[in-house]
Amino acid sequence: MGNRRKRTVIAGNWKMNMTPAQAKELVSQIYSKVKGRKACDIVVCVPFVDIPVVASMVKGSIIKVGAQNVHYEKSGAFTGEISADMLKECGVQYVIVGHSERRQYFGETDKTVNLRTLAALEAGLRVIVCVGETLADRESDITREVVARQTKLALENVTAEQMKNVIIAYEPVWAIGTGKTATNEQANEVCGIIRQVVADKYGKVLAKSTVIQYGGSMNAKNAEGLLSMNHIDGGLIGGASLKPDDFAAIVLAAQE
Ligand code: PEP
Repeated sequence: MGNRRKRTVIAGNWKMNMTPAQAKELVSQIYSKVKGRKACDIVVCVPFVDIPVVASMVKGSIIKVGAQNVHYEKSGAFTGEISADMLKECGVQYVIVGHSERRQYFGETDKTVNLRTLAALEAGLRVIVCVGETLADRESDITREVVARQTKLALENVTAEQMKNVIIAYEPVWAIGTGKTATNEQANEVCGIIRQVVADKYGKVLAKSTVIQYGGSMNAKNAEGLLSMNHIDGGLIGGASLKPDDFAAIVLAAQE
């Protein structure tokens, strides 16, 4: 991991892209470009229907499989939903919770983000909890309050032991899919605020080892600068994760 002091996690969020056949092709291309790179954790968060094919392809390799959402109940009359146990049995190790697109289009609230986080942790999954301010929040100068509040509420009733399986992704909503990236300093400042929230609740040692990712138009060009910042321990990558060369370049940047 070069001069990086701790675990770095690079996760791709494929969103609603790639049929199972396309997923097979994309994963084999990504694998051929990142194999042998051991210094950071690599995750691909794929649509539910792609999980079986991707899980069987990456089994035992450096690439881990993630899902993009999980329901908070164990089973029952929740048409269209997927439980944490279902994901686990299919080979999923990570799950994204509270992505801004879920908050924006599917009624996700801080409460349901917390419930999903708890359910996933209880099932033994690692959780990538997304937080981030809107453009209006930033322009009103309330980024700190918004992100601290989202982080605190997501972590309600999460134990210190469970916290070891939580990653927080700072994703300013105005930077997602827009090509606008937070500057290295802006991103680092907010990741530092998140780390402070974790420290206040769990202590400095756990806060130091908590992986805090940046997400929002991270790409092959800007990854190195962002990942060199002291509070940024990885990336959650949307658009660029669908391009094998770009995704591999970001993985490489995480090792420098
Ligand atoms: C995301 O969807 O989490 C994301 C960061 O997307 P993009 O990289 O395309 O901005």
